Amino acid sequence: MSKRDYYDVLGVERGASENELKKAYRKLAMECHPDRHPDDPAAEERFKQLSEAYSVLSDPDKRGRYDRFGHAGVGGPGGGGPGADFGDLGNFGDLFNDLFGDIFGGGGGRGGSRRGRGQRGADLRYNLEISLDDVLHGCEPRLKIPRMNRCGTCSGSGAAEGSKPSRCGRCEGTGQLVFQQGFFRVNRPCDACGGAGEVISNPCPTCRGAGRVEGQQTIQVKVPPGIDEGARLRVTGEGEAGVAGGPPGDLYVVMVLREHPLFRRESTDLHLEVPVAFVQAALGGEIEVPTLDGKVKLAIPEGTQSGRVLRLRGKGLPPLQPRLDPAQLAKMRGDLYVKVFVEVPTKLNARQRELLEEFAAHSGHEVSPTTKGFVEKLRDLFD
Ligand SMILES: [Zn+2]
Ligand SMILES: [Zn+2]
Repeated sequence: MSKRDYYDVLGVERGASENELKKAYRKLAMECHPDRHPDDPAAEERFKQLSEAYSVLSDPDKRGRYDRFGHAGVGGPGGGGPGADFGDLGNFGDLFNDLFGDIFGGGGGRGGSRRGRGQRGADLRYNLEISLDDVLHGCEPRLKIPRMNRCGTCSGSGAAEGSKPSRCGRCEGTGQLVFQQGFFRVNRPCDACGGAGEVISNPCPTCRGAGRVEGQQTIQVKVPPGIDEGARLRVTGEGEAGVAGGPPGDLYVVMVLREHPLFRRESTDLHLEVPVAFVQAALGGEIEVPTLDGKVKLAIPEGTQSGRVLRLRGKGLPPLQPRLDPAQLAKMRGDLYVKVFVEVPTKLNARQRELLEEFAAHSGHEVSPTTKGFVEKLRDLFD
């Protein structure tokens, strides 16, 4: 019997990277996995070859020997005789589970161990609406999260008071059933206990054996100053309770910035538009402008044009530096940019009109109310 080249079996180049090997193996093994082709010896044989090829090529030491000496180098038929290279086939079940645990397995869950652990609870997302004030000072809101909570009556075990879940007889408490297929062992979650390793003969009346109940939890989160729109805070373990005593999921709090009626945020800077009377813009003066810290006075220089941007230093937002204290953050705040737009009066009384006409006469501009309105003339003047 001549053996196929391992690289051919996996369909990769000889120089393939570890990642390429793994990808190729995953793809092909999915296609010919014995679960998908029950009672098909050809598929089983192919699966066996794949696993063998991968076990050699994924081990740098064995791969080196294979590259130099071929099958003989790794104890193939040319070397140690049939079966000699199956010495570590017992590990294929684990190898397979490492690669496919999320697809075929799922019993243990992420980071879960085999025994007595159910399924991990779902992660939750909470959209938290925050204001610019919250970004300035930070906030510590208390969130009411509707979720599946650990059952208080049975502390999540699912068993009625005074009783205990008992060890599952089918899987002997491991939560896994091992199937032997030729040389290969395939682990699957136990169908009798759902992978928990325990069965409940006397279920808790509150949760009917589920170990968790619908409820609501109040959770206080700390939102640091300077946080960005869309930022996520993870609160570990505050997602939904696990199933059958499994670990809880996490809670993700996502920041949604409430639109401010006046200010527009750009990183740590704020932008604001304020109207200024045309006389004030022409003569100069002082106006009051809102900031997140209250009103402040802003000097309007003489002859200010519409669209001019004036800067108020340090009236913006702090950067996101959760380790700094408020005093340090205050010194790092961005600026507030105030864009002035000059307002032209739309209604003039007789006296105002007279004065402006006089002003116009002194400015050397022609006044011809029949062809062009006086107001429009003023716009030309100031825009
Ligand atoms: Zn079981
Ligand atoms: Zn219960």
